[in-house]
Amino acid sequence: MNRLAHTDRLAVDCQARSLSHVPVRTCLGCRNRFPKNQLIRLAIDLNGVINIDLEGKYLGRGAYTCSCLKCVEQITGENDQSRRKSAQILSRSLRKRISEKEVAELNAILLKLQT
Ligand SMILES: [Zn+2]
Repeated sequence: MNRLAHTDRLAVDCQARSLSHVPVRTCLGCRNRFPKNQLIRLAIDLNGVINIDLEGKYLGRGAYTCSCLKCVEQITGENDQSRRKSAQILSRSLRKRISEKEVAELNAILLKLQT
């Protein structure tokens, strides 16, 4: 009985360790944590322009969103009013001033990815 309990504990420890090796990031919209490869990464390219980094090719800070429409809308703004707030959130997250125009462009691209 004792021996069985011991092996059970070993198995749990092992699983916990392997899970911790998966890079996990937080979605800026819903604040849930997901494996990095399930999220959409937003990053600044060499020209200082915010981009959707599908291949993980841009170095530096990134902001992440999961692919659900609600989060995409929260991060890139549903309308001009909410876009100002989105621009602030993204600017803070990426440590670079992101304009509302850039956010609007991101929104258009992300909505296309939805379909
Ligand atoms: Zn989300």
